[in-house]
Amino acid sequence: MKVNTNSNPDARGYFGAFGGRFVPDTLMAPLIELEKAYNELSQKQSFWDEFASLLKNFVGRETPLQYAQRLTEHLGGAKIYLKREDLAHTGAHKINNAIGQILLARHMGKTRIIAETGAGQHGVATATAAAAFGMSCVVYMGAEDMARQEMNVFRMRLLGAEVVPVHNGSKTLKDAVSEAMRDWVSNIADTHYLLGSALGPHPYPRIVRDFQSVIGREAREQILEHEGRLPDSIVACVGGGSNAIGIFSAFINDTNVNLIGVEAGGTAIKPGQHAARFSGGKPGIFQGMKTYILQNADGQAEQTHSVSAGLDYTGVGPEHSMLHDLKRASYAYAYDDEALKAFHLLARLEGIIPALESSHAIAHTCKIAKGLGKNHLLIVNLSGRGDKDIGIVQKYSGEKK
Ligand SMILES: *Cc1c(COP(=O)(O)O)cnc(C)c1O
Repeated sequence: MKVNTNSNPDARGYFGAFGGRFVPDTLMAPLIELEKAYNELSQKQSFWDEFASLLKNFVGRETPLQYAQRLTEHLGGAKIYLKREDLAHTGAHKINNAIGQILLARHMGKTRIIAETGAGQHGVATATAAAAFGMSCVVYMGAEDMARQEMNVFRMRLLGAEVVPVHNGSKTLKDAVSEAMRDWVSNIADTHYLLGSALGPHPYPRIVRDFQSVIGREAREQILEHEGRLPDSIVACVGGGSNAIGIFSAFINDTNVNLIGVEAGGTAIKPGQHAARFSGGKPGIFQGMKTYILQNADGQAEQTHSVSAGLDYTGVGPEHSMLHDLKRASYAYAYDDEALKAFHLLARLEGIIPALESSHAIAHTCKIAKGLGKNHLLIVNLSGRGDKDIGIVQKYSGEKK
């Protein structure tokens, strides 16, 4: 089936059968305002020039595309390159989207930024961008997550953000999203909701995809420079789906390039023990979008689990659901213990401590590399660095002993 590069959603915000805008009336006005503002701003070259300049001078782009020689030799198959998003300012790809949306907020005349965060990575990226633009920043975070991620709470506060604990529901990410939406409805005039992944109601999936697509554009140029041809496969982890759609987007029209998303297999593909929406989920409606979600027979959201907080989410960005159903991308999963193994492997073979999220992409690469043969070029999107995860890895190693 023909798929357009950077295919935009239709006027109702649908990517194929997925996406849309399933929100209460009160949220329609700010979403329409946002959509109009983005449609206007994204037509202006001056906007993209300013964004590019910030990505260079503040974020430190472009990030390298590095040949992972020792990993390649160790696995004995595909030639593996790493797209080093771990080297971006604040240690992951999330800052690309945060900077893009801050510019959008400024264009709309907003002076107050709100965001949700799970483990705190998106909160830190948002607090960073808000500080750099002199905007006030409120981050909603589940009380449970705040207790688990104290260092990121402190980091956000150092950057001048107010971190508000959310005590509703499971006191985690999805409750923080709901709380941020509640705030937005009451403060539309001066507030922009800076959503952290390529999901939620239209127009967020498209906006976030566009801001993350710099990863794919760079990787495409870089692999052509290194190898004189396009890669055979691209592997990226999929939480909400922003780093994956960011790198996939530049290759969607190149149907010879395999696009492989890797979800969190947790401890088992059984209800409540994983977050692999394409292995255990089915289409439904969740937090403003129609997409694959993990749900019980009544359509209620299932509990999820992953060793990696960034992949631990019930729904997935709607463009991935479209790519899945078109079979343009395939979606695998890696278990917690496979990701942990990959974490250690990359640290020892390449001197890079990857985020536990990114470790899922490495783990899947470990499974397939040998079977692919030496002429196969494979790019792994290394979405972030693993300093934030050292405590979790240490705890896990202790439990295993
Ligand atoms: C948040 C995060 C992810 C998951 O989010 P996506 O939107 O799926 O990219 C992956 N890797 C890192 C390092 C993250 O911080």
